[in-house]
Amino acid sequence: MSKKLFIPGPIDVSEDVLEQMATPVISHRSKEASELQKSITEKAKKLFYTDNEILLSTSSGTGLMEGSIRCCTSKRAAVFSCGSFGDRWHKMGITNGVPTDLFKVELGHAIEPEMVDKVLATGKYDLITVTHNETSTGIRNSIEDIGQILKKYDDVVYCVDTVSSAGGIKIPVDEIGIDICITSVQKAIGLPPGMSLCTFSEKARKRAEKVPNRGVYFDLLAMYEYIKKKNYQYPSTPSLSHMFALNYQLEKILKEGLENRFKRHENMAKIVRNWAEEHFEIFTDKNHLSNTLTVVKNTQNIDVSKLNEELQKRGYLIANGYGELKDKTFRISHMGDYTEEDVRDLLKNIDEILGF
Ligand code: PMP
Repeated sequence: MSKKLFIPGPIDVSEDVLEQMATPVISHRSKEASELQKSITEKAKKLFYTDNEILLSTSSGTGLMEGSIRCCTSKRAAVFSCGSFGDRWHKMGITNGVPTDLFKVELGHAIEPEMVDKVLATGKYDLITVTHNETSTGIRNSIEDIGQILKKYDDVVYCVDTVSSAGGIKIPVDEIGIDICITSVQKAIGLPPGMSLCTFSEKARKRAEKVPNRGVYFDLLAMYEYIKKKNYQYPSTPSLSHMFALNYQLEKILKEGLENRFKRHENMAKIVRNWAEEHFEIFTDKNHLSNTLTVVKNTQNIDVSKLNEELQKRGYLIANGYGELKDKTFRISHMGDYTEEDVRDLLKNIDEILGF
């Protein structure tokens, strides 16, 4: 029985994508490797609606998040957080010796653009981080409105974590004015975990030139310069197997049509939200609901571990709450290549188990 992972990443990967990972390995210093990276770059630019450069990393998204705050803050970073993944960026700043302040909102609520404006008006900060889709609470932040505020602050680098949204929700990077937009491949993009990518603007590049202590593996400027000097190669040895699969999957995504893909995610989200409202409550502020996952308030006090034991016998899995919300919520993802029918099947199975 094929497994259906409805946790917010990793998710199921289709057979044809997995097969790509078995492509015979090539030299990472070959012309073919350059062509492969170039091809991924072209497609990723379309996914992010950007002309900015694309950096790849053989790490999950956390690596690029750490690299961005470390490499591109020269004064002080402001981390805007509405949950566990936002908080993570604060920890990265502090532990990397970057002066970093955390601005938090109540769980289940979104970051208010006015709050960003007020913080930036102090003139203390030259980089901000925002989580687009906070996977612990199901909030989709208004990165567009925050981008509008940022237009007043020329020297501020805008970093956005789109780890659980890219590939499922439209992120027009250049229109919004995002300098570094980071995602992992194991969520709405639909690949096995182990790679991440980000967009990298000219503003981010110039900033990184002013930061001397950028580390080695997650030095975004080194990645950028290597691309330019070595015709789209990676400074160390990348996961070429992932790159074959990513190139293939991005092709499939573009073939589906980005707008179609986003619409499919919206439709899957609606089905899960309706179900959640019928039997439970949605935890998240209704004005900021994510199209890639739903965080459900466990108003019926169901035993999620027991439910999952039964679901697993049927080939499905959903997720517990995350962090502080572990026991109060559970999470259902609806991202990647799943269809509305897959989502309905999952819910039908949950209904049968819970006797709804
Ligand atoms: N940010 C968000 C919003 C996430 O959902 C996750 C993973 N759950 C991360 C960052 C960390 O990404 P990764 O596990 O790919 O390092």
